[in-house]
Amino acid sequence: MLSLPKVPSPKNEPVLGYAPGSHERVLLERALADMALAPAEVPLYIEPDGRPTLTGKTIEIRAPHDHSLLLGHAHRGGAAETARAIETAIAAQRGWALTPFEERAAIFLRAAENIAGRDRPRILAATMHGQSKTAHQAEIDAACELADFLRFNVWFAERILAEQPLSDAGIWNRSEARPLEGFVYAVTPFNFTAIAGNLPTAPALLGNVVLWKPADNAMLSAWHVMEILREAGLPPGVITFVSGDPAEISRVALSHRAFAGLHFTGSTAVFQQLWKQTAEHLSSYRTYPRLVGETGGKDFIVAHASADPEALATAIVRGAFEFQGQKCSAASRLYLPRSLWAGVRDRVAADVAQIKLGPVTDFSNFMGAVIDKRAFDRITGYQALARSDAAHSIITGGGADAERGWFVEPTLVETRDPKSRLMQEEIFGPVVTAFVYEDARWEETLRLVDETSPYALTGAVFARDTAALVQAKTELLHAAGNFYVNDKPTGAVVGQQPFGGARASGTNDKAGSLWNLVRWVSPRTVKETLSPPRSWRYPFLG
Ligand code: NAD
Repeated sequence: MLSLPKVPSPKNEPVLGYAPGSHERVLLERALADMALAPAEVPLYIEPDGRPTLTGKTIEIRAPHDHSLLLGHAHRGGAAETARAIETAIAAQRGWALTPFEERAAIFLRAAENIAGRDRPRILAATMHGQSKTAHQAEIDAACELADFLRFNVWFAERILAEQPLSDAGIWNRSEARPLEGFVYAVTPFNFTAIAGNLPTAPALLGNVVLWKPADNAMLSAWHVMEILREAGLPPGVITFVSGDPAEISRVALSHRAFAGLHFTGSTAVFQQLWKQTAEHLSSYRTYPRLVGETGGKDFIVAHASADPEALATAIVRGAFEFQGQKCSAASRLYLPRSLWAGVRDRVAADVAQIKLGPVTDFSNFMGAVIDKRAFDRITGYQALARSDAAHSIITGGGADAERGWFVEPTLVETRDPKSRLMQEEIFGPVVTAFVYEDARWEETLRLVDETSPYALTGAVFARDTAALVQAKTELLHAAGNFYVNDKPTGAVVGQQPFGGARASGTNDKAGSLWNLVRWVSPRTVKETLSPPRSWRYPFLG
């Protein structure tokens, strides 16, 4: 090491506006048009020389908002390709761990710079076409949050390396941030390109090698992220890339002796399944694996009678319906006082009436389609429940249309049953359910919020009364890992609101923070005695 370099201070990437006629809008529209005309051939990356692998077994990649738009084919791997990827990763391990931190960091900073600059239209277009995000939603995810993850992680990692023990006279103690002994398995969800990029790169930054299994329904943007990392100089094998049957890939990865960590974001059921599989293999691993999982949510907004009704209605519309409610943090259950209900209900209904739903390539649409048929069937199932169960009334929305794409209307339901399935289960779509409580039952309602759902990811309280805010913060201490006061429960920003929840929502290791990165190192403590003793006799023996 020739110097102790300081990493560049990170700043959150500014969100561009994409107004008609703006430079960024012109570039984005061009990238969208180009991508629609040239279907991608998405390979695996499992070879030590970095060459792509085409298995010939493929799935189609289609736009959720337009069944006729073929975006490409993703090649599928199985047990053999997964085993090969692990072998390649392990072969790359020593060289990568010995690569100086500043050289590793520079790769991810370069990738961030390209995502924020040259590659911005490309990664946005892939996320819009492939995941049906509007330009604004794709911008905050695929450009800003992904660049933020990469830049802030470098900064947090520097702090981990700088964290050193005390040294008494005559000795020098050091802490070395060793990578884990083995590979990390990163399993990523469809709904955030930024999370897909963060889960493999955060452990890799700290010298780990990674097997990345992207989500089948977000293959286009995942592949572009992989390409951007390769172009930024990521050596072959550091992050291997295998899509295919998730159960088969996981079986091979989790039964491997060198499995050292799981970096997962997705549904609670899948994470619990993966955790159980690791428990079965525990005695065969070389080291205890780190299990990091951020999973589902049933995120609440609870309003006190003193709340500002206009701010509350806006938070409901944005919090519940942006990106079709497919955010783990999306507002999904509302607790509203009787005195505010009629006003808030009518305002939300009036706002929703103005929302346009349609292909995201038409920039006047506020909402696109939900991700796939499975999601469409699940969400419309909850709409059907709201229609058929006497305890529920649909206030606005309730419809869906699968003819051109997987479109589900923004839906507000009122329930008279606070323990309704619509108040307990994650729907992961644009359906939000309100329970109206009597104003005098505020404290009781806080307990209801706390006890209704197994999840504890995000939640928001709206109140202007200070005592009510204090009560809410106290009673709901464990009900949300990200707690919002007079704000919608979505939209966490890297470096500002470290993100994650507890209970059934995950291990709360706070993506994009120091807390997450510490999970990917296994420190070695080194004690050096500067002038070692030369006699075994202690003074008291005299
Ligand atoms: P999902 O659980 O269906 O899929 C997530 C990943 O797990 C995908 O890569 C998928 O292929 C893989 N997978 C599925 N079945 C598997 C199996 N049997 N073995 C191994 N891997 C398997 O979730 P999704 O639909 O992609 O994403 C939505 C979910 O993610 C929601 O529950 C949402 O709340 C959650 N989420 C949580 C956060 C958070 O930070 N807490 C963020 C984003 C999404």
